[in-house]
Amino acid sequence: MLDQLKCLIEYQKIEDKKNQLMRSYEEGPRRIAELEKEFEYFEGQFFSKNEEWDNAKKAHREIEQEMEDLRGRMGRQKTRLNEVKTNKEYQAILKEIEETKKDVSKNEESALELMDKIEILGREVAELEKDLSERRSVLEEQRAVLLRESGELKARLDRLEEIRQQVRDRVKPDLLRKTDFLFTKQAGIAVSAVENGVCKVCHMNIPPQKFIELQRDENILQCPHCHRFLYWEGHEGYCVTAEDIDSI
Ligand SMILES: [Zn+2]
Repeated sequence: MLDQLKCLIEYQKIEDKKNQLMRSYEEGPRRIAELEKEFEYFEGQFFSKNEEWDNAKKAHREIEQEMEDLRGRMGRQKTRLNEVKTNKEYQAILKEIEETKKDVSKNEESALELMDKIEILGREVAELEKDLSERRSVLEEQRAVLLRESGELKARLDRLEEIRQQVRDRVKPDLLRKTDFLFTKQAGIAVSAVENGVCKVCHMNIPPQKFIELQRDENILQCPHCHRFLYWEGHEGYCVTAEDIDSI
């Protein structure tokens, strides 16, 4: 069989395999990004719950501070009560003390409500945190698997590239130029088998007078319709490697 034809068949095999592996290779980072995005969603939920919790604690501290101030105020009001001269002033301060007491009790109520809220939020935050840490481990595991797979794919692609270069070096420059042109213009397929009288890629009939020529593998023929290089189905052969390119 013509060495150049074997090279073309091998070149096409390599390109097919390369495209197939590239798709998986490009899928890896996409999948990782997807998993990270999903994780970030749960992380966001945790952050916002945690913020809600912090805000409740802050509000509680403010109320505690306010009550401290009110107690101080009441102390001063009681001192003034002992210093007043008239009954009218005395009554007025008693009234002020009553108001302060009301404010204190209102704050005490709010403080209790906040304590309940803080407790509930604290539990929710803990749950979300636990869930998040589990999700983080799963993400790390999946990422590691994907990265390993990606490394394996890269090694296979490198091996293919090695053979590809060897094939390219062996194809005569003029033929190589035509082949590369077909790869770009004909959706990545430059070489096609002929089966049952038709080009397997464009499915058009090949003139019967070409059959004998094709079967002899003596000339490089092109499909009259799609211009791809043709070979007789079953006559596959490689020029460079003895490896089965499909199993790389
Ligand atoms: Zn064709």
